Amino acid sequence: MVYKWLTSIQSSLTGPCLLCGGRCTLPDGLALCDGCRNLLPATGRHCPNCAQPQTSDARCGPCQRHPPPFERAIAPWLYAPPLDRLVLQLKTSAAGPCAHALGGLLARHLAASGCELPDLIVPVPLHARRLRERGFNQAAMLARVLARKLGVPWRADVLLKPHESADQRRLDKQQRRRNLRGCFTCRPLPTGCHVALVDDVVTTGATAWAGSEALRRAGAARVAVWALARTP
Ligand SMILES: [Zn+2]
Ligand SMILES: [Zn+2]
Repeated sequence: MVYKWLTSIQSSLTGPCLLCGGRCTLPDGLALCDGCRNLLPATGRHCPNCAQPQTSDARCGPCQRHPPPFERAIAPWLYAPPLDRLVLQLKTSAAGPCAHALGGLLARHLAASGCELPDLIVPVPLHARRLRERGFNQAAMLARVLARKLGVPWRADVLLKPHESADQRRLDKQQRRRNLRGCFTCRPLPTGCHVALVDDVVTTGATAWAGSEALRRAGAARVAVWALARTP
């Protein structure tokens, strides 16, 4: 009986690690071994408002001059190796273990940060054509895991992206913001509600900015941005 119990525990805690591929002990069943978790690049000192990495924990200049429509962005890691490999896995396969592992670690970071839990979790949407091409929205997969772990409701049909934006990759911060203006629409929200907007990576913050504006217009009083990573 005890033996059976021990083997069942062991089998639930070992498996292939998403990064090193080894058959490892997986603490809490998330598919990343302790060694690989320690390699994930922590954000370090950053602006408490937009999560931009910097040398101090003070609010950065751009946030002081133009306060963003979200009150706090939280991103535990830098978008750098080996986390970028995991984000690529998240984007290229609808496989559950990656979303489960990254969402689980992000949920743990959020709980440890003592941040206030929102009334609703909302993923950054993909345009319908992109969603058809990819078959899934990686931000929605993260949102679902976060919702389950944190006990907060989530909805993927509230914030929508009816207009396609041009490819963002070659654009600077200002151009990205202009490019995304008006791309998002949001169904009415309970007035005064607190929403967490979830994305995989925050790059210039233009998507977080435009998505938060749409949520605020729809009735949200407060918006937090939760992401896995921030580009350095
Ligand atoms: Zn590993
Ligand atoms: Zn800032």
